[in-house]
Amino acid sequence: MKRLSLKTRLVLLYTVVMVLVICIVLGLLFSISSYELLSNVQNQLEERVSQSFDYVTYEDGRLKFDSDLLELQHGVYLSIYEQDHNLLYGKLPYGFIYDLPFVDGQVRTVSSEGVDYYVLDMEFPVEDYDTLVVRGIVSISEAERNFRYTLRMSLVLFPALVLLSAVCGYFLSRRALSPVSRIIRTVREIQKEQDLSRRIQLGEGRDEIYTLAKTFDSLLDTIEAGVQREKQFTSDVSHELRTPLSVILMHCEALLEEGHLDEETRSQVQVIDQKSRSLTNLVSQLLFLSRADQGRAKVQMEQVDFSELTAMAAEEFSELAAEQNMTLQAQIQPGLFLQGDQTLLIRLWSNLLQNAVNYGQAGGHIWMGAQREGERIRFWVRDDGIGISTEHLPHIWERFYQVDPSRGRPGSSGLGLAMVQWIVHAHHGTISVESAPGKGTTFTCELPVSQV
Ligand code: ADP
Repeated sequence: MKRLSLKTRLVLLYTVVMVLVICIVLGLLFSISSYELLSNVQNQLEERVSQSFDYVTYEDGRLKFDSDLLELQHGVYLSIYEQDHNLLYGKLPYGFIYDLPFVDGQVRTVSSEGVDYYVLDMEFPVEDYDTLVVRGIVSISEAERNFRYTLRMSLVLFPALVLLSAVCGYFLSRRALSPVSRIIRTVREIQKEQDLSRRIQLGEGRDEIYTLAKTFDSLLDTIEAGVQREKQFTSDVSHELRTPLSVILMHCEALLEEGHLDEETRSQVQVIDQKSRSLTNLVSQLLFLSRADQGRAKVQMEQVDFSELTAMAAEEFSELAAEQNMTLQAQIQPGLFLQGDQTLLIRLWSNLLQNAVNYGQAGGHIWMGAQREGERIRFWVRDDGIGISTEHLPHIWERFYQVDPSRGRPGSSGLGLAMVQWIVHAHHGTISVESAPGKGTTFTCELPVSQV
């Protein structure tokens, strides 16, 4: 039951309650009407029997019978007997026991040839004559047959009633739960699109669901404001760090250019220089991403010779790869042009190739390439390095996520792929990764030739 959705549970509950109510109502109705029906039959029998006393007279030394005795009013058969069971006048149902003993003044049930009857015998004195017996007989089976027909009809209608109540239950619960569906939809959209500016906005209402939606909206206000403050803070801090860092780097360079530094001081200055460069790189990535978050990242679309840009990246990184004893092979289709931001695309290639060098194996290979496929340009980087295990794969796009920080180059921060993904999306493209630990990793991107 716990696995079922709230809507299904409500529909089931509603249907079960309706079935119970229908059963109880029908049960009550039938037991009352069956009782009413039978007592009605008995009443009519008693009435007819008592009436019949007036239909028998003794005149001129002869018994006279009114022909009304032969009429089947309310299905009641009347017959007049002498006390020794001699039938004088009247009608009996076909096949009814002829010599059934008399029981005076008591309605009883008698079965004859598979048919049930109510039978009432009553003695009555006839003036100037003897005491006679009137017997009234009425078939219960006839009345019950009608009743059973109604019962059968109700049983046939019962599933239809259950179905109807299930359908009603479904529409009612759907209507009642539609605000909940809206809350779920909004939360999913926020999760999927990472868009904290969305709100549920159920409107005015005073029930618990409306209150929940309002509380949720105000919680989102608070979260959005917090995230906004954090972005602003990151952006401000990164911005403020840039100037002192470039001053440090400038002084390091100046000191290293001077020839009179002793060995120890020189190596200390080199460490400061290296760390400052890493920090500058980190600050510039942070600044880029926080600007991107605030919608302030500059994307300048222009016609880009992607083949040339890729070839330049290949040339730059084949030297770097060679330093690590790796070979880089590039397969670039000439004449690939697209609408894009040249600086961002260079950044994209640098990050992917830098990772291939960092996480490739010494003496290994890097393959890269670009080619046109329809209205898109597909490009890729493949290495035969350490690879990424399946559990880490979905997280590599997250900021600051590093599978093994000790493997990265000095200054690697886990921001590179987040930036790569942002650049690809800014160009309306897609990026995917395939990897197997110990075998290598392939990043594949597709960018449209022109922006739609
Ligand atoms: P980093 O600055 O640590 O390289 P990235 O965002 O570029 O950050 O990459 C995130 C993580 O993804 C890396 O720390 C690394 O563990 C993994 N990764 C990225 N590229 C590769 C690759 N070519 N081979 C193996 N692991 C990779």
